[in-house]
Amino acid sequence: MTMNSVGRPTRPEGEPLNDYLHPTLTGARGLLQDEALIFELGGWDKTGVDLEAPEFDASDLGDLVRAEPIGLPGLSEPEAMRHYVRLSQKNHAIDLALYPLGSCTMKHNPRLNEKAARLPGFGDVHPLQPISTVQGALALMDKLAHWLKTLTGMPAVALTPKAGAHGELCGLLCIRAAHEANGQGHRKTVLTPTSAHGTNPATAAFVGYTVQEIAQTADGRVDLADLEAKLGPHVAAIMVTNPNTCGLFEREVVEIARLTHAAGAYFYCDGANFNAIVGRVRPGDLGVDAMHINLHKTFSTPHGGGGPGAGPVVLSQALAPHAPTPWVVHGDDGFELVERAEGQAEAAFGRMCAFHGQMGMFVRAYAYMLSHGADGLRQVAEDAVLNANYLKAVLSAEMSPAFPDGPCMHEALFDDAWLEGTGVTTLDFAKAMIDEGFHPMTMYFPLVVHGAMLIEPTETEPKAELDRFADALLKLARAAKAGDVDRFKGAPYHAPLRRLDETQAARKPRLRWTAPEAPKMAAE
Ligand SMILES: *Cc1c(COP(=O)(O)O)cnc(C)c1O
Repeated sequence: MTMNSVGRPTRPEGEPLNDYLHPTLTGARGLLQDEALIFELGGWDKTGVDLEAPEFDASDLGDLVRAEPIGLPGLSEPEAMRHYVRLSQKNHAIDLALYPLGSCTMKHNPRLNEKAARLPGFGDVHPLQPISTVQGALALMDKLAHWLKTLTGMPAVALTPKAGAHGELCGLLCIRAAHEANGQGHRKTVLTPTSAHGTNPATAAFVGYTVQEIAQTADGRVDLADLEAKLGPHVAAIMVTNPNTCGLFEREVVEIARLTHAAGAYFYCDGANFNAIVGRVRPGDLGVDAMHINLHKTFSTPHGGGGPGAGPVVLSQALAPHAPTPWVVHGDDGFELVERAEGQAEAAFGRMCAFHGQMGMFVRAYAYMLSHGADGLRQVAEDAVLNANYLKAVLSAEMSPAFPDGPCMHEALFDDAWLEGTGVTTLDFAKAMIDEGFHPMTMYFPLVVHGAMLIEPTETEPKAELDRFADALLKLARAAKAGDVDRFKGAPYHAPLRRLDETQAARKPRLRWTAPEAPKMAAE
């Protein structure tokens, strides 16, 4: 009997480890079946419900009467249910295992948050309800705003943006409005460091700014001399991430702010990594003018899947008057929403979305804050940094940290120097991790580090899980160095789908299913 690493029997003695030597006949793996598209599974002539033919006068619909079949697949209830449950089993999720993506912060979503978000008073409110009937929801938004301002040391916050990138857009629109109000509308350049997250230059370009790069020093931080040389009367803002995407704190951040303000520009700080400093550093004290906070990165709201998110933006005194409507105020009869760009909101640049933002995310983030308290939030930052440094230290036994000197913040960054001569690339290594039960880390980002592998464990992973993860990576690293190249080149062997052409998939996605033959309308 062969045992696995924790001593459980896995297979008879002598049976090969790799089931890729024995491909299955059906494409299924273990009890996981291969899954067809729902259109391929369903028939046009089947239905899960039995409806009577509707009685209606077709002339009521005029020329809107459907002439073609609707083209929906017909499935029985168990077929439809199994299809979606099987698909969900192919998804990796933070509820299944560690999700080590760096610059993305996939952390545990506490069930307490979910419970609070489902309370009928929060879950069932409608944005068009009379204000007098949603006083509790507005009170929660007001409290959340209060704590976001307190934690960041900033005087104002716009809650409406729906993601970090949307928050960047909001911040830059505030900056543009402020410059225009001050007769500085000619400032058309935004500076971003070479290590910036792609959304920074993309947002600046979207707002109509020209983007110029600021060089980086050998120790992974903003090059002050280069920043100073590029600042000038044409610069509207700088966008700097802190801690940055190399997982490092910008030690000269106060000087960066001073130089920026001296040149008449604003300091947009990308606060996606706020979980590394929450409770320990207040960006307002560093001279930041605008910063988005991804509630899904710092405050544990669900992340990914393109679902509803929230990226509130805190603003300095200079930018606060330009914040988008609506916002919550204390009126004579309780809470009110300032909706129109008049009176106290006359300098608002406009709106970011139709209503007030993502209520469900506000509730979850506030629940996370309350369940931790001030000391607990400080510990969030400390544990996030401790976990990342633990992985950096343990993995350095086989892998090469990109910035070996000194500690990192919330994420540990490795380059591919340690793979040199093995014939294994960062991509191969990441794919082999899937076979070992771990989602890959962020690969090839930031671009300034060759073959980058960026790992963020977050504060919610226990040491035992970090050890299991590190153990898998160290074993793989030794296998790569020992010349076991096939293990990597063909990986993943055990995933439902083998290695795909990701470039083709991104460049030429096939997003539509075409019916093999056009379905026919039922004759009767
Ligand atoms: C995640 C991230 C963003 C974008 O945030 P989204 O919420 O994904 O839009 C921007 N900058 C950095 C550094 C990030 O990590």
